[in-house]
Amino acid sequence: MPIQTVEGEISRRNFILSAAGGIVLLGAGMAGLSGCDSRTGGAATVALPELPYKENALEPYISRKTIGFHHGKHHGAYVDRTLELIKGTPLAGLSLKDIVQKTSGFADKASTFNNAAQSWNHDFYWKSLAPGGGGKPEGEMARRLDAAFGSYENFKKELTSAAMSQFGSGWAWLVVEEDRLKVVNTSNAETPIIHGQVPLLTIDVWEHAYYLDYQNLRSDYVKNVIEHLINWKFAESNLPVA
Ligand code: MN
Repeated sequence: MPIQTVEGEISRRNFILSAAGGIVLLGAGMAGLSGCDSRTGGAATVALPELPYKENALEPYISRKTIGFHHGKHHGAYVDRTLELIKGTPLAGLSLKDIVQKTSGFADKASTFNNAAQSWNHDFYWKSLAPGGGGKPEGEMARRLDAAFGSYENFKKELTSAAMSQFGSGWAWLVVEEDRLKVVNTSNAETPIIHGQVPLLTIDVWEHAYYLDYQNLRSDYVKNVIEHLINWKFAESNLPVA
């Protein structure tokens, strides 16, 4: 009985927090709740994080409608499915990153990997964007881009090319590999954290990331993200400490 009381209290508090945190939403609030229900105990490990900004904060480059569906429905579904798949297994209770790394490369764990990696990638994507972002960075990021690519313009060309050449669904990334910045792309749910690379920022190039706003024009979406939305502070915060 006391345990039930405690759990009820926690669920209720989480719900109130979610509700207060915003209309960001009902989708987010509900997924958060289902996360609580599915957890097998211990600290929160897999859950739909709230957006670091309001749903309309990235307009006019990414609409409120796109963010609402992308975060609440697409990202939320990956999180819910991950929770279903790990329930009652040794993976329950692990961090999302650990789940991704422990299921990578195992055919019988492909579904868990895909959903967990997509959950991780989306969390990273929301943080890679910010209102008033984009353009040429300053300071350490500017120095690191110059060192690796020769110039910001060259970096921009490489990132654009990685985003555009990804056939079908996937991601374009700026990563650190062996202390050097590098642009890579990944297919579907694949993520640099299974390749020993440290991601600095990412662009989601699945159609659901841009179709409502840009239809087939991925290039316009990518251009706007690079010029107006990249969160360079976040990218810099991900640089490994030398
Ligand atoms: Mn997506």
